[in-house]
Amino acid sequence: MRTPDLLAATLAASSALSFFLAGFGLSRRGSRGAVEFSGFMGASAIYALGYALELGCADLPGMLGALRFQYLGIPFICYCWLLFALRFTGLERPFRILRPVLAAPAVAAVLLFWTNDLHGWFYVRSWVRTDAPFPLIGVVHGPAYWIHVGIAQVELMAGIAVLLAYARGARHRHRSQALTAAFASAFPMVVFLAYLAGATPWHLDISPLGTVCSGLLFSWAIFRLGILELVPAARELAIDSLRDGFLVLDRKGVVADANAAARHLLAGVTVREGLPIADPGGNAPWLPGVIALARGERRGPGSERLEIRAVQPGGDARHLALEALPLRDPRGRLTGSVVVIRDVTELTVLMDRLTEMAVTDELTGLFNRRRFQELGSREAGLAQRTCRPLAVALLDVDHFKLVNDHYGHDAGDAALKEVARRLSRALRAGDVLCRYGGEEFALLLPDTGPAGAALAFERFRLAVRGAPVIWGDTAIPVTLSLGYHAAVPAQGEGLETFLTRADEALYRAKSLGRDRCEAWTEGPPAPLAR
Ligand code: GH3
Ligand code: MG
Ligand code: MG
Repeated sequence: MRTPDLLAATLAASSALSFFLAGFGLSRRGSRGAVEFSGFMGASAIYALGYALELGCADLPGMLGALRFQYLGIPFICYCWLLFALRFTGLERPFRILRPVLAAPAVAAVLLFWTNDLHGWFYVRSWVRTDAPFPLIGVVHGPAYWIHVGIAQVELMAGIAVLLAYARGARHRHRSQALTAAFASAFPMVVFLAYLAGATPWHLDISPLGTVCSGLLFSWAIFRLGILELVPAARELAIDSLRDGFLVLDRKGVVADANAAARHLLAGVTVREGLPIADPGGNAPWLPGVIALARGERRGPGSERLEIRAVQPGGDARHLALEALPLRDPRGRLTGSVVVIRDVTELTVLMDRLTEMAVTDELTGLFNRRRFQELGSREAGLAQRTCRPLAVALLDVDHFKLVNDHYGHDAGDAALKEVARRLSRALRAGDVLCRYGGEEFALLLPDTGPAGAALAFERFRLAVRGAPVIWGDTAIPVTLSLGYHAAVPAQGEGLETFLTRADEALYRAKSLGRDRCEAWTEGPPAPLAR
């Protein structure tokens, strides 16, 4: 096989391999850097294919045509390479601005090459060389070429520098991936420098062979080191699939990153990367708290936690728990925060329900004894401090055992519920009623002296006995006896004192025939048994 044919065949094979790798990269475009890698391989493939065509030509117009084709790829090789290095190392975001800035010289190079006949800035002269054993194109380069070459080399070196810097701080697989990528990108540079130095046979530009070596090394890296199955990509995916919101804010409250859950949970709030987090609809009064949290402005215990009740635009109220983790630079200065947002609605509802259950009587829905004691102690303390009277009564359904015996336990339950309902209806604001136990109830009327208590408790008694309880076809007459104590609590007297006295009074009410209200009086207990 003739040398040019061998070279052309090698270049064509290189081109095919590069095209394959470009396609492979595209198939993995979910991975970080995969698209940029495809660009790099695609541009290299065009270069190699154009070169193969060039070697197949014997005349100048053909060679120039092939060269023009090559220049559709060449200027983008180093550009894509640098973007790949930035994206691979996670630096792409801060340098996003570089994308259009760097694209401009690449596009300019293509345009200048294609319009060279008009200005001669890219190459001054071209001819078919006769100093080699086969026809090759010879060119005298113009200033645009040298600028283009300079930019490409800087891009290539910057890419290598970024990868090496990343490798220094990276561990395990990341490190070998970055080092392999840096090493692979050194090939085209070395080959091109050899060409410039005149060290290649017949002064052949064998750069496409350099890029193909990179491609081969990359193929190995892709399959052995999983270079496009990057952990950063996996992390991005994992963070995006989290149910918890993940929000990165800088010190000015500008969103640096946010996952889908954060956007969903903070619906109504503008969460857009590169823009300050904002509440255009004025529906998030809690937002300044979140920003203060992210800025590390909240101090003291629990300063990095915040619980908010966020109402979503649809009217759905969510309970969110936010936690801010400070981000610091190597010198320890706060640069921003990672805010983790958890939807704790279900948990909050459950906790509320549990709290409610802990203080509620299941049968009647009234407060239970524990809650009565809590509220009653508070009221008693308040009454004592403010020297105001307090009335406490114990109410007991009369002959309730007989109700159960006559009508059955279910009827008894229904009667208790109905008694509770009637008592509740007779309550005023501030009164506290509970099921004290069995068929007994307790009532607390704040700010009520003996005269008011006599009237009020009588009202409660009558509310119950006013009409029989209807249970199916049966009318069950229900009365209750009530004992109470109403006074300004003296020193050392608390709720317990009032309850004991109310119980003594109840005892007397029972003794005196039931279905009545009795106030506690000082003196020996009533002689009759209850
Ligand atoms: P007195 O007038 O002296 O209070 O007579 P009484 O029958 O009401 O008093 P006693 O303490 O002897 O009986 C109370 C009854 O209340 C006995 C108990 O079975 C019944 N009881 C307590 N809790 C419930 C309940 O939740 N449901 C039903 N159906 N009955 C209950
Ligand atoms: Mg009883
Ligand atoms: Mg009873």
